Amino acid sequence: RPVIVWFRDDLRLSDNPALTDAMRRGAPVLAAYVFDEESPDVRPPGGASRWWLHHSLSALERGLAARGGRLAIFRGAGAETIVGLAKAADAACVVWNRRYGAAERQVDSAAKAALRSAGREAESFNAALLREPWEVKSRAGAPMKVFTPFWKAAQALGEPAAPTPAPARMPGLDGRWPGEIPLAALDLLPTRPDWAGGLRATWKPGEDGARERLSAFLDEDLRGYAARRDRPDLPGTSRLSPHLRFGEISPRQVWHAAHAAALSAERPPSSTDLTKFLAELGWREFSYHLLFHNPDLATRNYQPRFDAMPWRDDAAALEAWRRGRTGYPFVDAGMRQLWETGWMHNRTRMVAASFLIKHLLIDWRVGEAWFWDTLVDADPASNAASWQWVAGSGADAAPYYRIFNPVLQGEKLDPAGDYVRRFVPELADLPPDAIHRPWSAGPGLLAGIASKRGYPGPIVDHDAARARALAALAATREPD
Ligand code: FAD
Repeated sequence: RPVIVWFRDDLRLSDNPALTDAMRRGAPVLAAYVFDEESPDVRPPGGASRWWLHHSLSALERGLAARGGRLAIFRGAGAETIVGLAKAADAACVVWNRRYGAAERQVDSAAKAALRSAGREAESFNAALLREPWEVKSRAGAPMKVFTPFWKAAQALGEPAAPTPAPARMPGLDGRWPGEIPLAALDLLPTRPDWAGGLRATWKPGEDGARERLSAFLDEDLRGYAARRDRPDLPGTSRLSPHLRFGEISPRQVWHAAHAAALSAERPPSSTDLTKFLAELGWREFSYHLLFHNPDLATRNYQPRFDAMPWRDDAAALEAWRRGRTGYPFVDAGMRQLWETGWMHNRTRMVAASFLIKHLLIDWRVGEAWFWDTLVDADPASNAASWQWVAGSGADAAPYYRIFNPVLQGEKLDPAGDYVRRFVPELADLPPDAIHRPWSAGPGLLAGIASKRGYPGPIVDHDAARARALAALAATREPD
């Protein structure tokens, strides 16, 4: 009797504990994927994620085929579909790797209960995190609320387990299963219009692409990471986020490979480079810890005080932000990078998110939803936790009253203006001292360059917006 491996956010064959467990059993393996937009409260993936998912599933199909196997794809409610498949295949056992959102956990526990009550085995594993969210706790045994002690406690649990290799061969079962559909029938790719050209030019989804990205990062950019990671004009970060999001690579693989590179490289990274990089994986873990303990992290203020924020409705300003037409070049470059490539540098994410929340006084949830739709790495934990972090409403968040000045941020982090030039071509001819403040370029220069090509003036005045944002925060304060 076969063992079913139910693939979800773990679209890889190496270091996949559910798959390793299935292979160990020595029975035929049935690899299955269920595209689930039907289970209650499961959040449908956004457009960019759907694009990535298509290509990642396609890569997984190729990886399985190369080993004599095959991926059976279905559409439907996760638990019902997998339980039905187990019955049709008379599977002895179904194995999968865990997810941490409340709706997904609900689906998985329903599946586990139904399978077990039908006399089948059902086992789940950790493939997505260095540590399970419940393993890391305060001395009193409570969930953690502050990053530094969280990451310290997580690391004190010891090294993550060594990654396991992909199976060399995994022959599948012949025949089609009831309800099985080809990948194309999931209809995940954009057609009218096909807006994915920039994504295709930027990314290689799938396990091979993830491995190549990791090697390139370790060879070229881990050394110097601490100094370069805040510079969107330089290729200083790993760009592993979508690969991690879809589980094409595990954080354990990244953790061990980074340590190995630090030991073996001819010109090794400094210990600060390594520590800083691993701490970013730590923020990912912390986000999942928060999501696990606060299932409505994407919809509810972690700090209830922010429920009283007088958010504005401003459709025109929101549209200007989405399209990268706020008149602040650094913000606009970030928003256009997002639109074009499905990814934005972390620093511009912070500044662009802060601009929406504080300069425009628009609810962080509106921005979170836009990122959810447009990011290839849109992640249920990291996106929600990061938006709350910027808003000041989250756990261990940046204080709300710290309001980024988008001009100064641009001048500091994109000093020559190359990042802006790349994504805001209307401004390409401006010199470095004017590119982050085109209005200062003088009427002659501006007429010749910026305004002629339709680049807008600032949609809000920085000082006035800052004062309004602080007044809004003061309104939420409880009376003394
Ligand atoms: P690196 O610097 O190379 O870091 C390595 C890995 O660590 C990343 O791939 C990522 O998995 C993780 N990581 C890095 N920074 C963070 C962070 N601050 N929080 C959580 N994990 C982190 N990250 C997502 O993966 N998905 C999201 O949906 C997402 N939304 C965000 C929204 C906002 C408003 C902000 C400010 C940040 C968001 N981030 C999100 C975090 C961060 O911006 C990205 O993880 C990072 O830019 C990815 O680039 P990288 O892979 O080159 O990162």
